[in-house]
Amino acid sequence: MLTLERAKVDLKELKNLMKGKVELNHSMAPYTTYHLGGNAAAFVEPQNVEDLAELLRCLTHGEVPYLILGGGSNVLFADEGFQGVVIRLGRSFQGLHIEGDRVRAKAGTQLVTVLTKAREAGLGGVEFFAGIPGTIGGAVVGNAGAKKAWIGPTVEELTVVTPHGEVKQLKKADYTYGYRHSSLKHSGKVLVEAVLKLKKEPKAEIEKKVKEYFKVRRGKQPKTEKNAGSVFKNPEGNFAGRLTESAGLKGFKVGGARVSEIHANFIINEGTATAHDVVAVMREIQKRVWAEYQIKLEPEILPLGDWDWDEIKDVFWNWKGR
Ligand SMILES: Cc1cc2nc3c(=O)[nH]c(=O)nc-3n(C[C@H](O)[C@H](O)[C@H](O)COP(=O)(O)OP(=O)(O)OC[C@H]3O[C@@H](n4cnc5c(N)ncnc54)[C@H](O)[C@@H]3O)c2cc1C
Repeated sequence: MLTLERAKVDLKELKNLMKGKVELNHSMAPYTTYHLGGNAAAFVEPQNVEDLAELLRCLTHGEVPYLILGGGSNVLFADEGFQGVVIRLGRSFQGLHIEGDRVRAKAGTQLVTVLTKAREAGLGGVEFFAGIPGTIGGAVVGNAGAKKAWIGPTVEELTVVTPHGEVKQLKKADYTYGYRHSSLKHSGKVLVEAVLKLKKEPKAEIEKKVKEYFKVRRGKQPKTEKNAGSVFKNPEGNFAGRLTESAGLKGFKVGGARVSEIHANFIINEGTATAHDVVAVMREIQKRVWAEYQIKLEPEILPLGDWDWDEIKDVFWNWKGR
């Protein structure tokens, strides 16, 4: 029988509780762009909002830990896995409607799909999605952006399910955001739908901006290797990649994890990396950048799952998700 030390629920019961997909003792690696991470005690894909709400009610009542996964493109999942439930918003949480100058998108919709539909409708404001993997859910929660553009200012309305299974509408004023941060982060709420307010713009202008964003990325970011984007946030007035490169760390490697030669703020999984290898590379970068420039780099990627906190708290010093 699969039970959890910290919880009072037998996870096998999830199969009776839910209409959606339930897998027990399931590898998380295929669901992250790093292709890393151990097994989750349970992995579920709810079929609809009601299914999700019922699940959250039950998990919260039973004190079962849970976490949400979107496209898994901004996370470092622990090699030790997760003694809890990983909730992924799968196909039934994908799709969007254009309503005048607004896009109403389910949280599991890929950013590229939103970008494609918005540009077809002559709606500008999300051109910076070009080249960012992941879902609307992950983007809104982490306030994804590129250069000086963020998703935060476009958010008009959000639908979330609370840990107690209540479906709530949040207005613009209920959602605050900063650099790769928002009020939804670490809240336990699951975002299920977002309405983004965009701007009517000539299609040619939108195309031009999209091409610019793609051009900036082309050749400057690893294309085919497994990664989770920028590992560190850019410090005020500087670039984490530039600092790492000038500290001489391009190509630096621990186990199967290596600092990309193309962009030093990307760490590559060569195929055999463990999540611990990635942390070891991050630690060395922080150490060398501090020694050379007295700048304390702050991780952008998120350590999900059952990490031994004492082992990684020096690297993820900014992490509030425990
Ligand atoms: C090649 C590459 C380039 C990238 N470039 C950029 C870039 O330019 N700018 C940028 O900002 N990011 C970039 N990223 C990082 C990443 O793609 C974005 O942060 C993206 O928005 C993460 O979305 P996701 O769905 O993959 O979220 P995940 O990685 O799955 O999750 C991220 C966090 O959000 C939470 N979450 C996800 N969905 C929900 C939900 N529905 N409700 C509640 N919580 C949720 C998760 O629990 C987790 O804490 C890049 C990544 C890669 C691999």
